[in-house]
Amino acid sequence: GDAPASPAASVDTHCPYCALQCGMTLRPSAADSGVEVVERTAFPVNRGALCGKGRTAPALLSSRVRLTEPLVRRPDTGRLEPATWEEALDRVAEGLAATGRAHGPDAVGVFGGGGLTNEKAYALGKFARVVLGTSQIDYNGRFCMSSAAAAHQRAFGLDRGLPFPLADVSRTGCVILVGSNLAETMPPALRYLTELKEAGGRLIVIDPRRTRTAEQADLHLAPRPGTDLALALGLLHLVVAEGRVDEEFIARRTVGWEEARAAAMAHWPELVERITGVAVPELRRAIDMFCDAENSMVLTARGPEQQSKGTDTVGAWINLCLATGRAGRPLSGYGCLTGQGNGQGGREHGQKADQLPGYRKLDDPAARAHVAAVWDVDPDALPGPGRSAYELLDALGSEVRGLLLMGSNPLVSAPRAAHIESRLRSLDFLAVADVVLSETAALADVVLPVAQWAEETGTTTNLEGRVILRRAALTPPPGVRTDLAVLHGLAARLGWEKGFPEDPEEVFDELRRASAGGPADYSGITYRRVAEEDGVFWPCPETGEAGAGAVPGAGPGAEDGPGPGPDAGVGPDTGARADTGARADTGAGPLRSAADGAPAPHPGTPRLFLDRFATADGRARFVPVSHRPAAEEPDAEYPVLLTTGRVLSQYQSGAQTRRVAELNEAAPGPFVQLHPLLADRLGAAEGAPLAVVSRRGRTVAPARISRDIRPDTVFMPFHWAGPGRANTVTNPALDPVSRMPEFKVCAVRVELAED
Ligand code: SF4
Repeated sequence: GDAPASPAASVDTHCPYCALQCGMTLRPSAADSGVEVVERTAFPVNRGALCGKGRTAPALLSSRVRLTEPLVRRPDTGRLEPATWEEALDRVAEGLAATGRAHGPDAVGVFGGGGLTNEKAYALGKFARVVLGTSQIDYNGRFCMSSAAAAHQRAFGLDRGLPFPLADVSRTGCVILVGSNLAETMPPALRYLTELKEAGGRLIVIDPRRTRTAEQADLHLAPRPGTDLALALGLLHLVVAEGRVDEEFIARRTVGWEEARAAAMAHWPELVERITGVAVPELRRAIDMFCDAENSMVLTARGPEQQSKGTDTVGAWINLCLATGRAGRPLSGYGCLTGQGNGQGGREHGQKADQLPGYRKLDDPAARAHVAAVWDVDPDALPGPGRSAYELLDALGSEVRGLLLMGSNPLVSAPRAAHIESRLRSLDFLAVADVVLSETAALADVVLPVAQWAEETGTTTNLEGRVILRRAALTPPPGVRTDLAVLHGLAARLGWEKGFPEDPEEVFDELRRASAGGPADYSGITYRRVAEEDGVFWPCPETGEAGAGAVPGAGPGAEDGPGPGPDAGVGPDTGARADTGARADTGAGPLRSAADGAPAPHPGTPRLFLDRFATADGRARFVPVSHRPAAEEPDAEYPVLLTTGRVLSQYQSGAQTRRVAELNEAAPGPFVQLHPLLADRLGAAEGAPLAVVSRRGRTVAPARISRDIRPDTVFMPFHWAGPGRANTVTNPALDPVSRMPEFKVCAVRVELAED
């Protein structure tokens, strides 16, 4: 009875999963879901290619395990049982309000997700701060790319994961890819690396494992987990020692080189070899490839970022780019490959503990005044910055006693997960909005069943900073509401009288106003433009000219030059002059269109920093950084390093992908990847159950023996709950700047499990 309604026509939309946000078309079909995925070659980022996750995404729309009615925990049975929406929303409103009345507004927490659309992230942040009046809001994106975001801000004055379109990756001369297994996490992106190599460019992959991505590399460096910072410093040392520094660029566009240089010179290559395990000749080869190319890039992902020194680690790679003049010019630079579907937009519109919409800082008085005016509230009434994600989860049951959770499954995805599970269980009140009964939702007092990606409209911002539009192809089942409708219903119940729109485009229009003039300015972006242009890059004020700095050969009519022609991946703006920094206030003033005298719309900003960085003086900042060990190093009791990550057929906490039969068959459960030398020492055969034990707990999964990993390290994917949950053992040690937990390295003991 709750089957989704069939669409009348094909609809162009985007995949619900990772940050590539692949374009796809949903076509009416006889399948249970009512739709099937067909290629959409016109969308430039993936040109029709999809991975298995995207291809099978409709399966969950008609799945029997999706939630189609609200659930409320009954005091008499202690069980979650069906309820009406009225009752469920009343219970949530009362649960949150009662917590606030008893313990103050900051005893109510809100936890969001990097998969939520821009509209939802915006509405959730506003809901927390003006309806609940709490400072305690953060989201799972803190566990994703926050170290890269912090390093970006520190060096360039602005954080946009990739400050250039992905298409530029194919056209540079050398890419150093640090801690990304994109061949499995976002397979269609591999094409850009293949094209790079076909054009004669070089690929260097840095990963403690020989992943499917590393197999593609001209040079694979496999450092000891947790030593990427030392590796970058060793490379910078060689750059200085071999006279490959770009003094002219440093003088013209940066500050702080002397201190950064001195820090790098303390990391001589032989020392770096001892720390990382990467031999000096390999370091030299890497530097030759990187510096011999006219243009080169460093791209990081979770490997270097999910460390207790993640911000400094990314900073060290940025220093390498700056010292060699590989930043602030076309086809060169540093970028972060954000992971979650809306990992980029999710951090820009106010669900982060320290941010307001438009990527404004919550402690900036001017930002508070601007956003408060849009929200029609007193700026002094807006709460200040709250706890970061892990700190918020750690405070559950003590300082934070009630929680509204949307689009996240921290019981699987948070570090030290058994502890977080006990914190969640100790709450006075927990409400969860989700599409399935995730492990976290199963603990809730109220579960609100919400619409899926194909049943609602909204924007996301992909890893390039390209704002794209997901369109509704289906009507949600009758028992299901959208997240925006949930917030609308709760705001009304909690006495908010100024309206809380549930229509996504109305929310987006408010977001545009709230972001206007901020670093991530969306005010010139409309649903119509996004649809017509297949994405618009922020910053995009309403009117005005983008900054100076054309990409040579990239414009229309550049077929004879080195440009990529129509496949550049940046739509009609490819040849547009790109912005210089955070804002398009370059002094050029709004353009007038000859036709009607109206100001011309801003073209959006595919490439940042070409003439100036987004700092007050326009110069990038070197930050002096030094090697330090991981928060937990191996010792006699815990002699092995554990690193965690992802596999091709699962996504994040697996709440969705574990419920798709085809994906589940391809990747049915966790495993422990280990080197034959370690397996021999343990007497472990292939498939033998291994216990991985840390100071925080014990997890058990079958052995997968492989020469593709260092002998001192084991790897576990983190997509599963239960006895093989990798995050039971991970270390919540936090980066002091980004508050990112150290998912990528901790000390463990590995033994044959008796169970
Ligand atoms: Fe594309 Fe990522 Fe979806 Fe795969 S999961 S289809 S790579 S957006």
